[in-house]
Amino acid sequence: MGLKDPIRVVVTGGAGYIGSHVAKLLVKRGYEVLVIDNLASSSGKNLLYGEFYPLDLANEEGLCELFREKMPDVVMHFAAYIVVPESVEHPLKYYYNNVGNTLRLLSAMQRAGIKNFIFSSSAAVYGIPESIPVEETAPLNPISPYGESKAMVEKILRDMSLAGELRYVSLRYFNVAGADPEGEIGPTYTQPTHLILRALKTAKGEFPFLEIYGTDYPTPDGTCVRDYIHVMDLAEAHILAMEYLLSGGSSEVLNCGYGKGHSVREVVKLAKAVTGIDFEVRETGRRPGDPPVLVAKVEKIKRVLGFRPKYEDLFLIIKHAWEWERKN
Ligand code: UDP
Repeated sequence: MGLKDPIRVVVTGGAGYIGSHVAKLLVKRGYEVLVIDNLASSSGKNLLYGEFYPLDLANEEGLCELFREKMPDVVMHFAAYIVVPESVEHPLKYYYNNVGNTLRLLSAMQRAGIKNFIFSSSAAVYGIPESIPVEETAPLNPISPYGESKAMVEKILRDMSLAGELRYVSLRYFNVAGADPEGEIGPTYTQPTHLILRALKTAKGEFPFLEIYGTDYPTPDGTCVRDYIHVMDLAEAHILAMEYLLSGGSSEVLNCGYGKGHSVREVVKLAKAVTGIDFEVRETGRRPGDPPVLVAKVEKIKRVLGFRPKYEDLFLIIKHAWEWERKN
């Protein structure tokens, strides 16, 4: 590449929810984006930014060929299965894709000589944390194959980094929600399991009622508490992480959240306020595997990347998600 060529970024899973928001932000900032996606979990509706390569990550030779031809500067790896209960039922499916195919991706990168990696990790690696807010140094005790698959990849990355094979930033996402404020892209799950999406789809009439899974947790109102982060702030964190690596930063693991918790009941109340619809809510039993409270300690990402969120407001997150829902 010549001196004036733009930085080239591979985005695996770039047709998915988070990957597509990051692809858009990268293109807007002048980066060149190559989206790799097999469209296993997305329709392709969000494929608006970057050049699309319909590749499966199991195809290491195909990846290697593409990498050798394009020589990207960075690989951002979003492609993965993400449904926790499904991972409990079908662990091999999760390990095969989330670990096995990540190994193939890393191997293709190594063969092509690409050494910068951004990984979509998850707060699920912590399991049920001993203390809140949870710090990056907390022990990893995942309680589902999904969380385990993310912890395994983190371990592999750490070893590769120690051996000088690559440098990486692993971003541990807390609860990602919201949509592109410009309304171009948003979540496109066909079977949404996430609270905010389910609440909004219930408001829309797609579900007859919303269930609250458990009201007997040791929390102020008895429902689970989560740290919701706007997808555009998360996208910004990826850009910062990439710029950090490209300017020589060393490998890091960083929580991505706001450090502030909201209960399920609070989310429901805000969803009703945003939509103006008093949808039916039913209280049911706990969903297996839900930690009572999951809130990030966020000092590290602020310090290392200078991360300054722009949309730190649950009302706004739900509002952007609702604007997307209403249109689609
Ligand atoms: N939740 C709920 N009803 C739903 C979906 C989720 O009560 O229809 C609860 C869930 O039990 C958890 C919180 O909302 O306590 C956030 O769940 P979500 O699936 O959005 O994200 P997670 O924290 O599991 O990644």
